[in-house]
Amino acid sequence: MEVKEKAKIVVTVASLVAVTVLFVTEYRRRRSHRRKQIFPLSSCYLHSEMRPQFGFKRVLADNSYSEFKHLKLDDASSSSEKASNCHHPYESEITVLLENTQIEFGFLRGECSLEMSDSYVWVETESQLKELAEVLAKEKVFAVDTEQHSWRSFLGFTSLIQISTHEEDFLVDTIALHDAMSILRPVFSDPNICKVFHGADNDVLWLQRDFHIYVVNMFDTAKACEVLSKPQRSLAYLLEAVCGVATNKLLQREDWRQRPLSKEMVEYARTDAHYLLYIADALTAELKQLATEDSSSPDDKFHFLLEASRRSNMTCLQLYTKETEDFPGSAAASSIIYRHLNGHGDTSTISLNAEELVRKICAWRDLMARIHDESTRYVLPDQAVVALACKQPTTTEDIYGTIAHTDLATESSPSLNSSVQSPYPVICSHLDDIYQMILNKLAKLDDILPLVLKKCLGTNGTCPISVFNYSLLLNFKTKLSSHSAPKQNGHKNFKQFTRKASRELFVKKFSCKAPVYHNCRIYANDGRLLCYCDKRKLEWYLNRGLAKLVEEDPPAIMLLFEPKGRPEDEGNDFYIQTKRNICVGCGEGKHYLRYRIIPSCYRVHFPEHLKSHRSHDIVLLCVDCHEVAHAAAERYKKQIATEFGIPLFVRRVLDSKEAQGTSSLTEDESMVNSEDAGVSPLHLRSAAMALLRHGNRMPSSRREELLQIVKMYYGGRDISEDDLERALLIGLSPHERRRRERKQGVSLKHSAEVARLDKQENDENNDGEGPADSEKIMNVERSTVADDSGDGGTSEGDGATELNDAQCNGNTLHQQNSKLSLLGHGPHGKQIVEYLLREYGEDGVRDFCQRWRKVFVDAVHPRHLPGGWNVSHSGRRDFGEFSVYNPTKRLSTE
Ligand code: AMP
Ligand code: MN
Ligand code: ZN
Repeated sequence: MEVKEKAKIVVTVASLVAVTVLFVTEYRRRRSHRRKQIFPLSSCYLHSEMRPQFGFKRVLADNSYSEFKHLKLDDASSSSEKASNCHHPYESEITVLLENTQIEFGFLRGECSLEMSDSYVWVETESQLKELAEVLAKEKVFAVDTEQHSWRSFLGFTSLIQISTHEEDFLVDTIALHDAMSILRPVFSDPNICKVFHGADNDVLWLQRDFHIYVVNMFDTAKACEVLSKPQRSLAYLLEAVCGVATNKLLQREDWRQRPLSKEMVEYARTDAHYLLYIADALTAELKQLATEDSSSPDDKFHFLLEASRRSNMTCLQLYTKETEDFPGSAAASSIIYRHLNGHGDTSTISLNAEELVRKICAWRDLMARIHDESTRYVLPDQAVVALACKQPTTTEDIYGTIAHTDLATESSPSLNSSVQSPYPVICSHLDDIYQMILNKLAKLDDILPLVLKKCLGTNGTCPISVFNYSLLLNFKTKLSSHSAPKQNGHKNFKQFTRKASRELFVKKFSCKAPVYHNCRIYANDGRLLCYCDKRKLEWYLNRGLAKLVEEDPPAIMLLFEPKGRPEDEGNDFYIQTKRNICVGCGEGKHYLRYRIIPSCYRVHFPEHLKSHRSHDIVLLCVDCHEVAHAAAERYKKQIATEFGIPLFVRRVLDSKEAQGTSSLTEDESMVNSEDAGVSPLHLRSAAMALLRHGNRMPSSRREELLQIVKMYYGGRDISEDDLERALLIGLSPHERRRRERKQGVSLKHSAEVARLDKQENDENNDGEGPADSEKIMNVERSTVADDSGDGGTSEGDGATELNDAQCNGNTLHQQNSKLSLLGHGPHGKQIVEYLLREYGEDGVRDFCQRWRKVFVDAVHPRHLPGGWNVSHSGRRDFGEFSVYNPTKRLSTE
């Protein structure tokens, strides 16, 4: 080899080394100054990070957009194989328990010991787990609690299960044993072994999600507290009151992935399960006692105990579902837009761009979180999304700074989060995507995700593929194609409406556009969670300096004063549950409407302080369940009308004063008429309209039919054209009437046509004002209601002020703008409520509410009601000094 060539090689090698050294030094320097700037020198942070869940081999709830698959039992008993995913695999076993009146309560051994020894069993190998299963199989009862981790995981995972028998405490390392946990399935689903939990609503779902473990036969000590009307129902309270043990619930939010667990965490975890058997023992004794004190006949001896057991086992019937949305990140985006962009009433083009960008970033964030198996808030907090969308920084450095800056503004994050520097690793290794999105290089929302997916997980992808995300790749195509297909049914002729299409329209128009529940949190000044609520309630406290913001995403505040009561103290943990944005009937998550269990025609007349429990009585329903619930409610209204002798509709006769609209109803009139003597204003108007527009073209039998309806209204006399014209305005409030008059013409014609079509297609339809009818109204009036409906949850929690009684709810559309509009059942509702208050006082109203809840449950058979929801919810809460609902406060703050 020639010298020249040698020299060349040396120079080349030397310069390569130099470049590499420079590179590495620069890389190190940049890493140490991460806040300044970093760029993806290495492809993805995941290559150098080991996380416990990456050791899992079997993952039941993966991060793909597909549905969660429940356990299928292949025994003969599950007859309808097809429907098995929405059926609880142990439904029949649980139903037996619910109906059984002879349940044996195995923990009533009266030999529970209180003390917690120093020894416990740490279960981390498969053989240890098998031994545990054998031990448990011999027990009649054992106690269970679980701890979760949800910060560095997309769906969260169970990090620890605590199991206590009368003899021992077991801590099961569910990270080490993740793939072996099916060993415990049989004991959990064994109806002969009672599992004692405290507040099991979440645990039940988490066990299904991670291990296909289904709990059959449960005793929930929180439910027992409920039945016993205990002053408080938190575990901390029971531990203190029943066992004399103090706990520090702040440990609940530790990072339960860590190994070994600290001494304090072991102690805390054991405490959560160890005393449950003793507590269950004490509470069942009380329940039995209550039964004997209360009843004369030996038949109801176990009434209270059975009720507690029944409520517990209802919890077991819940099924885990993954949240679904019509486009990745869309729910979060809508919520952010609602909270941060629309909130300022800014409709300039800048904010439209910002909105578009929020949608893109949220879609990207959703996918990134799934790919990397992180929570979306770990990928990019909401605040950072907002900052990026508003500032639209155009250099990578600026982008970096924008994100870092928002984090600085949110310094008071919980201990768990503060160890992570912002911007978080996902952003650091994928900063370029954001840059591209802001520069709008990835033009369409639908295009972003396939590109990102290909870039990260494709053949030369930047990120490692794990068991959590490989099915993302498989499922992704279906997700997108199913999304982009049905978009173009805007301005077609109404006549072409199939029932399906009008249903879709109804969904589009009336379903809530943003998640209804924001799940913002309010903590007491000692760190205990008081309730979940919407943003508005947080702001109420913040604006008055009564609370400080302790977390941004989702927002949480801490009260600066001592609240009058704690939610757990008030006999219902309903308020301290996150609520899922799904239909409480069937679990549908793609669309939902608010449904008022107590119809507005009654509720608007309730005394103010009884109205405030709407969070309990407003639930989300999909269109189908909504229809079922609404039809049942309409039937029940008729029953109420008959029972109380107060007709649903005002019957007007003869003279022309009827067009006055507001009630001129007298007492005797209402007492004399039975409910079916009247004609619904809606029917009257449709009939009159059809006669006016098509009277001479329709078959005479049909014309006669319609004339009868109008005649009935006018007391049987002959009808003139004038009468028909006037009938069009019947039942509208003056405001509605003016609007109608302005819009008469084309839109009226549509309504008549739609009404007729609906009638033809759908004669079996109920005669009330079901969704189909709401649709007619919508078409007639091009109601603005639909726009109001997407308000993103003004009535979450018990804290939101209700702006408008005509939300997206079909059964309230008609009452908009006028409580006394005859179009609804306003006068009927008013009289009923007045009667109840006069005869029975507020208890009458409370009983009345219970009747409606029962009607709802019987009609819909809801499977996804939040834990803590119950028919007998008393609505008795005292309002604290600063409560939004404090009646005295209310006047002074408005
Ligand atoms: P526990 O029912 O108290 O054993 O709580 C079980 C798990 O729920 C904990 O491991 C946490 O992951 C989660 N958790 C419960 N309450 C909170 C809270 N206030 N904040 C955050 N996480 C919570
Ligand atoms: Mn616990
Ligand atoms: Zn990556």
